[in-house]
Amino acid sequence: MSKYLNPRFGTFDAYVPGEQPRDRQYIKLNTNENPFPPSPFAQRLARQAAAELQLYSDPEVKALASVAAQRLGVKEENLIFTNGSDEILYFAFLAFCGEDTPAVFPDLTYGFYPVFARACGVDYQEIPLSENWEVIPGDYAGADGTIFLANPNAPTGIALSSDQIEKILIANPDRVVVVDEAYVDFGGETVVSLIQTYDRLLVTRTFSKSYSLAGARLGIGIASEGLIADLKKIKYSVNPYNVNAMTAAAGVGALLDREYFEKNVETIKENRAYLAAALQDRGFCVLPSETNFLFVKKPGISGGELYRGFKERGVLVRYFDLARTKDFVRISIGTKDELDFLIRALDQITEAQK
Ligand SMILES: *Cc1c(COP(=O)(O)O)cnc(C)c1O
Repeated sequence: MSKYLNPRFGTFDAYVPGEQPRDRQYIKLNTNENPFPPSPFAQRLARQAAAELQLYSDPEVKALASVAAQRLGVKEENLIFTNGSDEILYFAFLAFCGEDTPAVFPDLTYGFYPVFARACGVDYQEIPLSENWEVIPGDYAGADGTIFLANPNAPTGIALSSDQIEKILIANPDRVVVVDEAYVDFGGETVVSLIQTYDRLLVTRTFSKSYSLAGARLGIGIASEGLIADLKKIKYSVNPYNVNAMTAAAGVGALLDREYFEKNVETIKENRAYLAAALQDRGFCVLPSETNFLFVKKPGISGGELYRGFKERGVLVRYFDLARTKDFVRISIGTKDELDFLIRALDQITEAQK
């Protein structure tokens, strides 16, 4: 770090992305990517868009907005597109938090929320999950600031119902509530339709998980026209061309190739059930997941030991070295072959323990 860095950034650790090692071939089950490639149609549209990269991208991403609005059952005025959903979340911290408005989120959730808060120079308050790793809606009544909820939550995989989210909205009549639906396509209930009733609800979505476009970086914010106008003010103040032309085209293709999307999501759900059963057979505690990952632990072996044992055997999983999560690892749902490889590695790890 140099002496020139704004001191605000000197006082905290930046977000640490999951490992993306290039040193050897790993089975990558650590960052919740989709194991399947993007839709061939999405790939084709992206290649076509590449032929016109001499032009700036459309700051309003009109073609994508029109397809997405139809798909989500909202108006184009209810949508904003961003460079991954991380960017819409960042915009939301900038737009809806401030000196007198801290951010409020669970003590165990997406690790980027506290980082965004600090990067934006706003305070945050963490509300503990229950013993069973659940968000308790009542704990958010009369919250002191802007509420951020990943639903389903990460890294637990547990989801609230839309009724429970609505309770939180009702119990905070003057607060913006941001619901991060990064994983909702894998089983959770969406609250998109509630934007018609609550003009302070922002729903965020990503193409990184269910649409196999993590490397393209595409996110959506869905909200009332008022909130979207606020967020666009931020976007046009910092990066109007935040969605590049190839990514926008890939997004259109991914949304239109509905059959491909549905087939992959279905396969991932089947594989999730397959892995959960295999782990439970082997004495694991598996939290109920509505996502494309499982958060699991096994009595007698720590999360760190599991993580290292898997890595030695060529499988990457995610381990969070925090007091509360040190027994757990988070395993992304891969293909059946990848999961079988992981299960064999696990049997070797437990054999070596004896
Ligand atoms: C993956 C993830 C995101 C961010 O996804 P992008 O790749 O930036 O679109 C946001 N929230 C949660 C909870 C996630 O797991």
